[in-house]
Amino acid sequence: MRNLTDFQQKMADLLPELELRYNESMAKHTSFRIGGPAEVMAFPKTSAELAEVLKVSALLDCKTAILGAGTNILAPDEGLSSLVICLKDCLGGIESIDDTHIRVAAGVTMTRAAVFAANAGLSGLEFAHGIPGTVGGGVYMNAGAYGGEICQVCTQVEVMDMSGNLRTYTGEEMNFSYRHSRLEDEGGIVVSAVFELKPKPTEVIRAVMQDLMARRSASQPLDLPSAGSAFKRPVGGYAAALIDNAGLKGHRIGNAAVSEKHAGFVVNLGGATAEDVKNLLTDVSDRVFRESGIRLEPEVRIW
Ligand SMILES: Cc1cc2nc3c(=O)[nH]c(=O)nc-3n(C[C@H](O)[C@H](O)[C@H](O)COP(=O)(O)OP(=O)(O)OC[C@H]3O[C@@H](n4cnc5c(N)ncnc54)[C@H](O)[C@@H]3O)c2cc1C
Repeated sequence: MRNLTDFQQKMADLLPELELRYNESMAKHTSFRIGGPAEVMAFPKTSAELAEVLKVSALLDCKTAILGAGTNILAPDEGLSSLVICLKDCLGGIESIDDTHIRVAAGVTMTRAAVFAANAGLSGLEFAHGIPGTVGGGVYMNAGAYGGEICQVCTQVEVMDMSGNLRTYTGEEMNFSYRHSRLEDEGGIVVSAVFELKPKPTEVIRAVMQDLMARRSASQPLDLPSAGSAFKRPVGGYAAALIDNAGLKGHRIGNAAVSEKHAGFVVNLGGATAEDVKNLLTDVSDRVFRESGIRLEPEVRIW
């Protein structure tokens, strides 16, 4: 980062309590367990702290990236000469607004949000229970599973722009589509989201969550580092089926491999590099295209 010393000085003046880490390994913060050091990582605990960090970063023209739980990111081997703002477990808090609405801060995991809703006898977030990311990351990319999607329950999102200003979007204004929201086009940071849920007995909700978790464990390689589905679902097919039909289960480049258990997952067999994963994604996409005429696009965000 060009202005590291200025950044440190300003942060020490404005937010002496803010946790900053230098040369922090991205591998420690991504579910792939891949990625070199981020030059500076900041852990703001409130939206006011986040706003201050963003203002300083904008003032000094620092390159800035937002990290949730790192479960959909491939971070570069050479590291990042930028400021990474980590929100998981930092922007916290869940509250009931009324009988059917809850507000969840961006750094809360989707699993925690789903459990809170279940305990409150509110249905609608069962699908999110096994998704390992944060609510911020889930809203940003409209996460979904087993027929459920964030866009089905999200009615309001508080978003901070990169200068630290807050505004609120309705669910409709978020322009959600398959694994996409307006924030991917325009930038902006999810600070919190409101979910509209339906009353249902807690035991019924828990039974659905347990069933979905059992289906995940049975079909996904949860024992190996990955970023979930490596490719988006293409029009006219399923990525996993196309990869399987192309005979690519177990296909390996370096220490990255197509999972034997679920062809839609790329897994780190131990010591895989970002380069291994990128080469594997390209190779799989090319081979599937030759076989089926369908081009697979990565779902994992390549930084
Ligand atoms: C085992 C496994 C299973 C998975 N299963 C599913 C699944 O069933 N369905 C599914 O949709 N996904 C699944 N995923 C992928 C991943 O969990 C989701 O995409 C999740 O929403 C990512 O959230 P995150 O907090 O980890 O975001 P990160 O990976 O940290 O970030 C992903 C992107 O979101 C941005 N971002 C993160 N937080 C914010 C924020 N507060 N504001 C603005 N932008 C932000 C980042 O800048 C980045 O571009 C799975 C992953 C794994 C490892």
